[in-house]
Amino acid sequence: MSGILQRYSDFLPLTASTPRLTLGEGNTPLLKLRRLGEKLGIELFVKVEGMNPTGSFKDRGMVLAVSKALEEGARAVVCASTGNTSASAAAYASAAGIPCFVLLPAGKVAMGKLAQAAVLGARVLSVRGNFDQALDLAVRASRDLGLTLVNSLNPYRLWGQRSAAWEVADELGEAPDWLAIPVGNAGNITAYFAGFVTYKNRGIIRNLPRMMGFQAEGACPLVRKETVVNPETVATAIRIGRPVSGKKASAAARITGGGFYAVTDSEILEAQRLLASSEGVFAEPASCAPVAGLIRLHREGRLPRGIRVAAVLTGNGLKDTETATRGIAEPVEIEGNWDSLKEALSWNPSV
Ligand SMILES: *Cc1c(COP(=O)(O)O)cnc(C)c1O
Repeated sequence: MSGILQRYSDFLPLTASTPRLTLGEGNTPLLKLRRLGEKLGIELFVKVEGMNPTGSFKDRGMVLAVSKALEEGARAVVCASTGNTSASAAAYASAAGIPCFVLLPAGKVAMGKLAQAAVLGARVLSVRGNFDQALDLAVRASRDLGLTLVNSLNPYRLWGQRSAAWEVADELGEAPDWLAIPVGNAGNITAYFAGFVTYKNRGIIRNLPRMMGFQAEGACPLVRKETVVNPETVATAIRIGRPVSGKKASAAARITGGGFYAVTDSEILEAQRLLASSEGVFAEPASCAPVAGLIRLHREGRLPRGIRVAAVLTGNGLKDTETATRGIAEPVEIEGNWDSLKEALSWNPSV
């Protein structure tokens, strides 16, 4: 099995003594969504990052960050997380054989992600506060206690995450016209931009895509151009009020003629169901923000016809089934006999 360190070794800061960790990250599907694309009048692709080993794109950066930490003799790693970073850090720390400490905002992490961090062997601390506060504490712990910080302040994280842009370009043979992506700490949009710039500088692609970032209305500091003190959204992975890479992300949007847009929680959940029920792709709420955004831009007549869009579905829907099933009808219960089944099937006209 090979991962991104093997596949993109020429583009990553590896030395002869960097351990080549892998859990099989990267090489995720780029699906063409014909039905939804037609409805929106565009050529729509989705990069299904939920297919990574721990179910989110975070694995791309974590494999490099933990490999470099090992190379540099780290004793342990630490991170603050809205959930997916902690799942990923826990997995790669286990693979590397070093301890992992994670700081999570109390009560605001999806159950699947909590389970992952705990079962994967991390020491999980629940912080009474939001993500931004947890991050301040993790930074302090790394500085004062000598733990290696594996949040996106660690430059190897974003470097590894560039691999997703390379995969999109490798598969399409060019960059898409738009890259639509959810934005929390704004690391991933920054990493994609850097990835496309690398490929353009090496002559592999001719153009950069417009970098289009989508945030939740209750947590959209880059849309409002100011810190959001109490960010709130059902999309917990992007519930961030003070994005660490905000400045770089803004530059990426400005340079490429892109921008930042906000969508409501109900638009996010509608997009999640549409994506799942009409295309067979189950992505977590944060991942559905760009899809919700494309739908809204289309409705407002602001989505150019015929363009090629790649939307990044950052995480797997199974991580947060509680949110996904809110308001969805319970399964119809029947007796365990043929008559009950026959009746139920004719009763339900959609079968
Ligand atoms: C981390 C994460 C995001 C946000 O990415 P940033 O780099 O913080 O902007 C979006 N969706 C999911 C599923 C995530 O785990």
